[in-house]
Amino acid sequence: MAVSDTRRVLPVVRDESALPYEHPLYRSLLGVPGLSVATAVLDQLLEWGARNSLWVFPMATSCCGIELMSAAASRVDLDRMGTIVRATPRQADVMVIAGTITTKMAPRVKALWDQMPEPKWAVAMGSCAISGDFYRNLYPVVPGIDTILPVDVYIPGCPPNPEALMHGLLRLQEKIKARTGAPAPRDPVLAAAQLAAAIAVSSNDRSDEPVGEEQELLVQAPDEVPFTEIASDYDTILREQFAVGEFPADGAPIIPAARHHELARTLRASGYRQLVYIVATHCKAKALGKTSPERYEVAYGLRSLGKGSNVASWRVQLEPGASVPSLVGLFAGADFQEREQFDLVGVRFDGHPDLRRIMLADDYEGHPLHKDFPADAPCAPWR
Ligand code: SF4
Repeated sequence: MAVSDTRRVLPVVRDESALPYEHPLYRSLLGVPGLSVATAVLDQLLEWGARNSLWVFPMATSCCGIELMSAAASRVDLDRMGTIVRATPRQADVMVIAGTITTKMAPRVKALWDQMPEPKWAVAMGSCAISGDFYRNLYPVVPGIDTILPVDVYIPGCPPNPEALMHGLLRLQEKIKARTGAPAPRDPVLAAAQLAAAIAVSSNDRSDEPVGEEQELLVQAPDEVPFTEIASDYDTILREQFAVGEFPADGAPIIPAARHHELARTLRASGYRQLVYIVATHCKAKALGKTSPERYEVAYGLRSLGKGSNVASWRVQLEPGASVPSLVGLFAGADFQEREQFDLVGVRFDGHPDLRRIMLADDYEGHPLHKDFPADAPCAPWR
């Protein structure tokens, strides 16, 4: 059958609901002499106001945020172009996304963006906001903020300096100006400001600057805190009260899960008052060689306080599906650390009062540091 045979002539139906709204007075007002000139001027006035009062909502999540903050300080002084920072989306025109956005943050960022009134603009500051940068392929990172909201200006760099942010905002002003019609002739005041910003960017290359006294002070090492790895009293406790006879040279001693809580309690009573770390690992035969069965390993570290403090560390090994007693009742800091290990590795801690995800979104599927987790797992709709 020829293609033309399949075509049918459809009746033209005027769908009134699809037409844009027209005020009943619109057509009569069009005939009023000079009114179109007045409304055009009003448009330009509003656009001028919007362009010169860009209130920024700072979506600063990491190092780029520091550059955003310094842009408000006296050296760049964003205030002079009418740009001030507002900590509420309802009074802001521009969201500046400065830093890495994770899949857990993404719904919050989108919710804040949706709360900003129109007209609004978005600036992606720095390579993390633009594309995810080095973290792009990590399981929790959104590979570019423009996957969740429309971006008007991209400011490259890691990090872009405050002058680059100013340069980006000047580009945004040009974009807003062009919005009201054909691009206007170049504004001489704006052009002078752009030139000043460009000069500031080029002169801000600090690599050639001599290291001043102040910078030298910053790189001095902090005072060392003396401590001894596994003090003799800890060895004694392990030998005499927990019948530990093996002290491997390449790691902390292994304690049965059933006695791990008792050991933590004993150490706490002996002066080890600070929980330093809880770190879990999932080990699989494939990763360790054929002789090692699949298991989880949870390492703990405690520290006694004061001068000459000691560290006590031990490991607990778990079969797949087994759990380990929580230390929340002994150390408040165990709360977040156990949640983190549950979230990332999938280890369960018996007796934890609120064992739920802490770093990833609540609906994230799987545990990304589990050996079976695929490195390129998607997390729709955020990646
Ligand atoms: S782009 Fe660089 S400076 Fe900015 S948030 Fe990412 S890593 Fe930090």
